[in-house]
Amino acid sequence: MTPRLAFTEDNAMRIAAVERAFAPSGKSLAKPGRVLVGEGRLLKLCRHSLQPKMFFLFNDIIVYGSIVVHRFWYKNQHIIPLEDTIVEDLADSLEMKNQWLIRTPKKSFYMSAASEKEKQAWISHILECREQQLISSRKEPTTSFAAAWIPDRASDICMRCADKFTVAQRRHHCRQCGFVVCNSCSKCRIVIPAISAKPVRVCTLCFNTLLREKAEQAGKRSSDGFDLEMPMYEASSDEDSEEGYDMMPIQWVKP
Ligand SMILES: [Zn+2]
Ligand SMILES: [Zn+2]
Repeated sequence: MTPRLAFTEDNAMRIAAVERAFAPSGKSLAKPGRVLVGEGRLLKLCRHSLQPKMFFLFNDIIVYGSIVVHRFWYKNQHIIPLEDTIVEDLADSLEMKNQWLIRTPKKSFYMSAASEKEKQAWISHILECREQQLISSRKEPTTSFAAAWIPDRASDICMRCADKFTVAQRRHHCRQCGFVVCNSCSKCRIVIPAISAKPVRVCTLCFNTLLREKAEQAGKRSSDGFDLEMPMYEASSDEDSEEGYDMMPIQWVKP
C-alpha cells in the first residue's frame, strides 16, 4: 500500500528540503512511494556524551545527521532502513530521561527525547511505519542486532581485565559486545559482516567466540570446497565524534 501522502506536492517539497539541508554530502532521498512522516531534534548518546541530532522519519527509512545550522544545514548523514530497525522503550536512568534504544544490525544507540510524550510518539510512529514496510516488502524482519556501545564515562576500569583507564591507558569499544575495554583486551580484529567488510575491533572474549563460530561455519562448508577465512589484524585508533545543539519538539506531518 502506498500512503496517500506519497503523491502530494507538499511531501515532495519536504523531501527536497531535507536533501538540500544535507547537501553536498547527503544521498538522494526522493523515491516513488516515500513519505516524510516527521522530523525533530533528539539527543543521541555518542561515545563521549549526549549529542543533539536531527532525525527524519520516512515511511521506509530513518535519516539522521549532525546539526550545523538548524533547519538549513546538516552533515554526517546516516540512513537506516526501517526493516532493519527495532526500538526498545527504556525506563529513565539517573543520567538519561525519556530514553529508548534504536537497534540495527550495524549500530545500536541510546536516544533521549524532550518528554515522555515525545518519546512515545517516536516509538509508535517508527513501529507503525516498520510494520507497514515489512508487510509491503514481504521481507523477514532482521533478528541480529549490534550491541549498543557503553559510554566511555560509564566505566573507569576496563570491563574485561579491570585495569584502570588513564591518559596512557585509553578506552576502546568492542564492536561485538559494546563493552569499554583497554587496548590489551581488544587487540584483535575480526570481520563482522553486518558491521563492516573490514575487520573491526573486538575484545578477546568476543574474538574467541566469533572465531569459534566462524570455524564451525567454515567446517560445515569445507566439504563444499570453501576456504576457512579468519582475518585478524592490529589496528590504529577508534572514531565517533560529533557535535550539536539543544532540543526542540518533534513536528509530525499531518495527513
Ligand atoms: Zn583490559
Ligand atoms: Zn566483546
